[in-house]
Amino acid sequence: MRAIPHFIEAKPFNDGARKGQVFNPNTGAVQAEVAFSTAKTVDAAVQAAAKAFPGWAATNPQRRARVMFAFKALVEKHMDEIAHLLSSEHGKVIADAKGDIQRGLEVIEFACGVPHALKGEYTEGAGPGIDVYSMRQPLGVVAGITPFNFPAMIPMWMFGVAIACGNTFVLKPSEKDPSVPVRLAELMMEAGAPAGVLNVVHGDKEAVDAILAHPEIKAVSFVGSSDIANYIYQVGAANGKRVQAMGGAKNHGVVLPDADLDQVVKDLVGAAYGSAGERCMALPVVVPVGKKTADDLRARLLPEIEKLKVGISTDPDAQYGPVVSAAHKAKVEGYIGLGKEEGAELVRDGRGFKLQGYEDGYFIGPSLFDNVKTNMRTYQEEIFGPVLQIVRAESFEEALALPSQHQYGNGVAIFTRNGRAAREFAQRVNVGMVGINVPIPVPVAYHTFGGWKRSAFGDTNQHGMEGVKFFTKVKTVTARWPEGDVGDQSFVIPTMR
Ligand code: NAD
Repeated sequence: MRAIPHFIEAKPFNDGARKGQVFNPNTGAVQAEVAFSTAKTVDAAVQAAAKAFPGWAATNPQRRARVMFAFKALVEKHMDEIAHLLSSEHGKVIADAKGDIQRGLEVIEFACGVPHALKGEYTEGAGPGIDVYSMRQPLGVVAGITPFNFPAMIPMWMFGVAIACGNTFVLKPSEKDPSVPVRLAELMMEAGAPAGVLNVVHGDKEAVDAILAHPEIKAVSFVGSSDIANYIYQVGAANGKRVQAMGGAKNHGVVLPDADLDQVVKDLVGAAYGSAGERCMALPVVVPVGKKTADDLRARLLPEIEKLKVGISTDPDAQYGPVVSAAHKAKVEGYIGLGKEEGAELVRDGRGFKLQGYEDGYFIGPSLFDNVKTNMRTYQEEIFGPVLQIVRAESFEEALALPSQHQYGNGVAIFTRNGRAAREFAQRVNVGMVGINVPIPVPVAYHTFGGWKRSAFGDTNQHGMEGVKFFTKVKTVTARWPEGDVGDQSFVIPTMR
């Protein structure tokens, strides 16, 4: 059985303390055993990162950026290998696995420009002989805790920016698909990052709690489900750490009557069912405005959904593969059953889907609900599977209120030809990321990623300048180089007159 060790100080590390199993979602078979951390393992990683910090922080930003350039080239060189590894543990199809890696690399490209991002501010002559300047300095050892659904992109969101800024990093990836983060750490070393700059520890709550409790860790970046995000935020902050914690989502796509419905159907099918719906920026809820829009949309959607090809993740014709685990399959199918019990109309039922030759794989066929109501648990909660729910609205105002009042506020999309309506929607909707005729509005790397309400705890987004702010602290220097005598001693607070 393949063993997946931790990665500490540029070496595989296994203290044999605890372990977990890694499954192949296509077959349901155990394919590897992953080492699980105790507090001692986490401490070993933190010590390695702390040892590497002074040298790395003192390395000039251009040299740090060169490591990022080299890392990007190495990941591109190994793209096929990494995509296959990712797909074999996550279950997303190869093209989508490459997208996962590519979106992470875009943050690495941003990190290549870190010398520019770290330039401070300067005021010449703030007073007589006085200049004021500010600089951004790294925090020290920082940590990232990541979810299963983007095992390449989300670690790169975090360590890409943090390390370029001069921090050293301890990554605790999802225990469900832990191989790609280790591979990325190996490539960072090959790219020239000194040992200890990026360490990977695996595990579950025990590892996470050890990170939250470790006094040497200055900041924790988390992405995962909302209850855990809230826990990370509360405990991390109580322990004096800087914390950003991104949570779950329930993104709505509002369809106005003037939208190009053929395009909307194409966009929706990809955004709702791609990656088996396991994306925090998936569109699992569609809100057509007006009965005619809803009826037309449903009539056009259904044949497209019927045509979807579900297959193993290495099948080049498959549009999506299995979900990540047996437990997750049971959870999603449980929600489909609940939706029916709650009185929503189950137009297409994806439960019981079997792929010939892969009967033990975690496959779920595409499901569609219509006439979903806001008081239903299946509307209020995140399903995170290949399930699309139609919630009919009578008016623009009603459609705007739905995502605005939902507990989650990650992403939202509006489909329309009316620029004014789109503009008003974008301005008023109570959600962090908005797409206008864009179904998955994940911002480009030099902007920032982050939702509102229960989709994010803490006040700084991922990547872009928000990421740089999260992983640095500002120091402001006021310097006086007077000519001659500066006058008498003063007991009054200095002011600029
Ligand atoms: P998860 O919350 O189960 O796990 C995330 C991380 O937390 C993992 O590393 C896991 O090991 C750890 N963890 C799990 N249980 C824990 C516990 N009790 N205490 C401490 N740590 C624990 O999430 P997941 O299932 O891996 O990922 C899917 C979720 O992530 C979805 O809710 C999805 O919406 C969300 N997500 C959000 C974003 C975003 O940017 N907002 C992006 C991707 C995924």
